Formats: sequence, structure tokens, C-alpha cells
Amino acid sequence: MQAPAIGGVQAPRGNGRVVRLPQGASLTDFAEKIGANPASLVQIMLHLGEMVTATQSVNEETLQLLGEELDFNVQVVSPEDEDRELLESFDIEYGEDEGGEERLQSRPPVVTIMGHVDHGKTKLLDAIRNANVVAGEAGGITQHIGAYQVGTQVDGQERKITFIDTPGHEAFTAMRARGAETTDLVVLVVAADDGVKPQTTEAIDHATAAGVPIVVAVNKVDKEGADPQRVRAQLTEYGLVAEEFGGQTLFVDVSAKQGLNLDGLLEAVVLTADAELDLRANPDQDAQGVAIEAHLDRGRGSVATVLVQRGTLQVGDSIVCGGAFGRVRAMLDENGNNVEVALPSRPVQVLGLTAVPGAGDNFLVVDDDRVARQIADRRASRKRNAELLKSRPKLTLEEMLEDLKKGELQELLLIIKGDVSGSVEALEDSLLKIDVGDEVNLRVIRRGVGAITQDDVNLALTSKGTVIIGFNVRPERNASELADREGVDIRYYSVIYQAIEEVELALKGMLKPEYEEAQLGTAEVREIFKVPRIGNVAGSMVLSGTIKRNSKARLVRDGIVVAQELTVSSLRRFKEDATEVREGFECGIGVGYNDIKLGDVIETYEMREKPRD
Ligand code: GDP
Repeated sequence: MQAPAIGGVQAPRGNGRVVRLPQGASLTDFAEKIGANPASLVQIMLHLGEMVTATQSVNEETLQLLGEELDFNVQVVSPEDEDRELLESFDIEYGEDEGGEERLQSRPPVVTIMGHVDHGKTKLLDAIRNANVVAGEAGGITQHIGAYQVGTQVDGQERKITFIDTPGHEAFTAMRARGAETTDLVVLVVAADDGVKPQTTEAIDHATAAGVPIVVAVNKVDKEGADPQRVRAQLTEYGLVAEEFGGQTLFVDVSAKQGLNLDGLLEAVVLTADAELDLRANPDQDAQGVAIEAHLDRGRGSVATVLVQRGTLQVGDSIVCGGAFGRVRAMLDENGNNVEVALPSRPVQVLGLTAVPGAGDNFLVVDDDRVARQIADRRASRKRNAELLKSRPKLTLEEMLEDLKKGELQELLLIIKGDVSGSVEALEDSLLKIDVGDEVNLRVIRRGVGAITQDDVNLALTSKGTVIIGFNVRPERNASELADREGVDIRYYSVIYQAIEEVELALKGMLKPEYEEAQLGTAEVREIFKVPRIGNVAGSMVLSGTIKRNSKARLVRDGIVVAQELTVSSLRRFKEDATEVREGFECGIGVGYNDIKLGDVIETYEMREKPRD
């Protein structure tokens, strides 16, 4: 049904109908869903005080505002939700183990190695793998497939550990930013001759943000000048306190080069996993997991390494992996051997997919090829749409503060990057001293010297509500591109007090004053006069309060607002102009609106700035 909406713009009314829109939808998407003209929605938004173009992707608040205005119940769905719903429509649940507790069995921990460049991450991964090539497999060609599994004896039991074979936190954060949580535990490599370095602390930040326990491998103990105790002392500052200092963290001295004490490291991983994690999965269900790496091989087609997270993957299974699908033609392990079944925490190379999935895409086994194809097709078309939309709505400092106020965010998280460490510390100190009351918490999740890197943006992406502050620094090019694309707010300052002032003002909500409506008076229309040049004037009786000239007004008919955003442009008592007329008196009111009827009520009000407390 078409009915006049606001300001005479024609748009359908929803009467409460539900409209589902993806995150970052545009007014054009909205218009398509409700069968309206996009231009009319642009106009309505303009009336509501927001200037947006038809194709620009807008934030959830804007979609909600528009929905309310047109009486649609707008539901904004995230890509993850959308995917969950897509799978649910096929009666598939992703991400949960089927059945109850009794069906869960323990699974090996999945480990990522992180640490500063040149501290020996790659060497350590190689050393662990080579030390573990068992006699029977020695002939196999060890190859890099993105992850591998090793065995070790702990307390007389054979235990397995899976290592993700891409060291460093770039892969780790990229996966997490896509919602894929693969890593159970982090091995932090610190060179004993070099100590804690910037990427060491970055790695700690990432692991902590992900709530993943850390085992510290103090590497290169064979080197002259190695001082493993100093590493322990340094790391206490970052909350990693060695057992011998009364803490909980296991530190293991190793030499990746000489293959020294690698068993000790594996044991520490198993012990930490046993103590801090409950790693169990249901092996008796259709397999599900995550793609870790994939490429196109000339001879073999799409080759994808997947990590099974629950269930058992078997040759012949029909699978979907991101936008790719197919039947598992063969599975290979890290030694190039054929594998028939892969249990939870097992990484395997899968041959047989139609396309190359992305790292971090989820994979799952489905009943048959047809279902696999349908899911893959739907995902692929959704991905195309998302790409068309290009950018996600920006969550600016102001918007975050709105969310803070609404209780959707409890914390404003900051990443501070500066040109020299002195100014970074000074800025952090002062920012933390800002008194913003109890409801709002300000937390600095990273501080550092140097340009804003892609890694900073990735960290901001993994925690909603993070703003990056650049003090006398600029982002690296790929970092600013990523921030633009993903909508991360970066603020630049060169004067400390300016930064403090802006954050403080923002936190106190003073960047945008809030107004509230105060009712002034109401009057009932008793007579209508036509006045040349002015139009219709309402001969009225003031029912309550005072009618003031120039105040805002709306016209109410039978309890329904028929016109708003009006102004009392003329006010007369008998033939005289009046500035105000009180309750119980008659007057002539002109509101610049001709469609007045007897019995209408004119309500007048003004907008008053709401005081902050
Ligand atoms: P990554 O950047 O952390 O992956 O570091 P690499 O594994 O590439 O190692 C950096 C350098 O340190 C290489 O030259 C390695 O040979 C050397 N290295 C790694 N581990 C050890 C070790 O335990 N002892 C000694 N002496 N050198 C090592």
C-alpha cells in the first residue's frame, strides 16, 4: 500500500513487517526489499536529518531509523549469522558438537608458534617436525602443507600435538578476524640472546585477546651471550610469570638449531593444555573444520589443507569449503602419505574440491553433492554481493560512544602508536587518567612506537570498539587501505592535549549535544479563517500551557499526527499580534499549513538541550 510518508515523499508502509538486511546494506538494498524507489528513501533520510546516497553502505542505526519511520521491523544480520541461517535451512548446524557430553572425546591441542622475527620460529617448526619423522615414514617427503601433527610421550602415554606451520601472528589474526578460531595454545619463541622485542609483546597481545594460553620457548640457548633467566624476568612484566617465580607459565629452554630439549617443549604444551583447556570433540559425526591453506596445483587441481575440528573426515565424503564444494577424492598427510580417515585436530590435504577456498573458510561434510553445490552457490553469490557493497559501515569514535551509552559496548579500546616511546607513554598515562565514570571503561590494548601497521588494524578488527590513535605517525599504505576497507577508525594527533581533549569530550558525550522535546502548550481548532498571503489560520482555544510565537508545532487529528515540523508563524489575539497566549484564551494561530480541520489540536514544543550529568 502506498501512503504519504514524510514530507510528502511516497514510500510503502511496512505495518511492522520484518525486513532482513545484511550488515553494511545500502538504501538501494533496503528499497529493493520493500519495493520502493531508492531516491525516495534518500529523501526520507534527508528529512530525518541524515545525508546518505542511495548506494552508500550505511550503519545499522540508520537502517533502524529508516525502518522505524516506515514501520518496518529491520533486522540486520552479520555474515556469520547469515551463513548459520543458510546452513540451518539445510538442517545443518556448524560449530557445535553433535550430541551431549558423553559423545565427546579428547583431541590433541592445536598450536601456533609466534615471536619476534629471527628468534627462530621457522627453525623450531622444522626441528620439531624433523625430530618426529618416525622410522616408517622416513622415506616420505616431508612437505609444507600448512600444518602437521607430531607424537610425544607424556607420563608413559602417547600424546599428539598439531602445529600450524605458518609461524607468526599475521595468519593467526587474519583467521580470527574472519571468525575462525583454530589455535588452542600459543608457543611464544624468545631468543635467549635477544630478549623481549616488539613482536614478542604483539604476540602476547594477540594470544591474550584470544584467551589462548602461552608456553614460552626460550630459544638459542646454545648461543654465546644467551641469558634465559633474563627472558623470564622480562616477561613477568607482561604477565607471563615462570613457575619458578611463583607463576603459572611454563618456560622451556631450547635450541632449535641443535634440536635440544624439544621433547621438554612438547611435554610443556601437553601439560599446559591438560591444565588449562578442556579439549574434546565428537569424533562420530560428519566432519567440520577450517581451511588453513589452499592452492591450485597444475596436475591435481584444487589442493586444500583443512583442520578437522569435530567429526571424522573420510575419503568419499561430500564437502563444502567456503564457496568451493566437491567430493573428497584423496587425503594426504604432511609426509605425502595417503590417509583414509582424519579425526579431530588432524590436518590433511584434501583433493577434489571444485575451487580454491580461502584460508579461514569453514568446511563441512554434507549428505550429498547436490546439497554441497547449493550451499557453495549461495555462499558464492553472497560473497559477490558483499564485494559489490565494498565497504563495511564505519564505526567512528562518535558511533562507538553511542553504543557505549546504549550499553552495547562497555569499553572503549585504544591502540596508541607514536613517534617516540616517551610521548606514547605520556599520552597513555593521561588518557587513562580521564575520569569517565563507572559505566565506561577505557583500555589501551596496545601501545607502540612506529607507523600504524596492518597488524594494528587487524588487532583492532578482532575487538569491536577499538580506535587507533596515531601520534605524529601515519599508517603504512596497506594498513590504511585495510582500515578503510574494514571500517576501523584511525585518529591522528600531533599535540597531546588535543588528543586528550577530544577523547575526553567524546567520552562525556559532548561532541553531540542531545536535545529533548519540552511541550509548551496545546490549542484546539474551533474556526478556520482564510487570510490572504498567509493561508489558513486556526481560530483556537488554548487548552493547556502557553502558545508562543515561533515555537515548533505539530497538528494532531483524532490522536494521530497529521503534520509535523511546523512553526507557529503567526499568532494573534483579537486583531493584535501576540508573542504568547495562555491557557483559557482564544487566539488565531498560523502554522504555514493549510489542511487544518475543526477539532484538530495544535501542539507546540521547543527542543531543549539535555543537561549531561
Ligand atoms: P623466524 O624469523 O623467527 O622464523 O627465525 P628463523 O627460524 O628464520 O631463524 C632465524 C635465524 O636464527 C636463522 O639463521 C636460524 O638458523 C637461527 N636460529 C634459530 N634457532 C636457533 C638456535 O636455537 N640457535 C642458534 N644458534 N641459531 C638459531
